[in-house]
Amino acid sequence: MVPTVHFFGEGDESCPLGSPGALMSDQQPQIELVGVTHAYKTAGGPLPVLDDLSLDMDAGSFTAVVGPSGCGKSTLTRLIAGLLIPDHGEVRLHGERVTSPRSTVGMAFQNPVLLEWRSIIENVLLPLEIVPNSLSRTEREDRARELLSMVGLEGFEDKKPSELSGGMRQRASLCRAMVHRPEVLILDEPFGALDAFTREDLWQIMHKLRMKENTTTLLITHDLRECVFLADQIVVLSGRPATAQHKAASPLGDDRVVEDLYTPEPTALLAELRHQIQIAQGREMDGEAVH
Ligand code: ADP
Ligand code: MG
Repeated sequence: MVPTVHFFGEGDESCPLGSPGALMSDQQPQIELVGVTHAYKTAGGPLPVLDDLSLDMDAGSFTAVVGPSGCGKSTLTRLIAGLLIPDHGEVRLHGERVTSPRSTVGMAFQNPVLLEWRSIIENVLLPLEIVPNSLSRTEREDRARELLSMVGLEGFEDKKPSELSGGMRQRASLCRAMVHRPEVLILDEPFGALDAFTREDLWQIMHKLRMKENTTTLLITHDLRECVFLADQIVVLSGRPATAQHKAASPLGDDRVVEDLYTPEPTALLAELRHQIQIAQGREMDGEAVH
């Protein structure tokens, strides 16, 4: 099931699927950012990074965020994880304001930081050693093995990270980020360092994982095709201080395959997203309202 996509501004003309109200569900979003504004304090004075950013993520939905380098994407992930508290506005989880770091967040980054002295399965088990849970040793291992098998790493459980390729390490890192069934999974450019073909394999694996696990996911990426392939909703951030400049829904269904990206609807969406990124980068200022 593709969860309901929430859009932001009432009556937003840019909504590609008509009235945004028609797409809203009655349920409360799992994660809400409401008018989030944040500045870093630096020696040179405050550096405004996010400005009045609002965003809803339904339980089980997949949101992709793109935007210019340095616009505040990683800052957004830290706010959702509770590692930073916004100057103004709120981050809410199940309607409750987030005021401290969340242990129920799973994170994966561009460079999978695996502990080299631990085997792959021991790396994947790490969050279950840290986050309180009632699973027995056997249940934990079964869970880790299940995930590793889903990403094609069956038989590699006892290898050391150094024995795996970059793509395999990233697959193990995804398993580690999801092993404790986090309330939200945050992926900050996790496929950025991989070659194009490995990356596409990872997209398909990520989609399969997401369908099976139903984890609410936020993906930060520079890759527009990655957005359209993986996400339900796509948010383009403006330049710093960033706000939600544009939002769109992916036209792809639950059983999507990478080849679908080359069909007309996704192709048209890619062109629109590219255009929006150019606006965000300030390359196209005239005649285009930046909302
Ligand atoms: P992105 O992930 O979109 O590239 P970031 O969220 O990492 O951007 O950073 C946004 C801006 O805030 C950048 O200009 C960055 O240099 C600055 N920044 C990030 N973290 C800090 C910090 N802890 N203190 C001061 N400035 C920061
Ligand atoms: Mg970043």
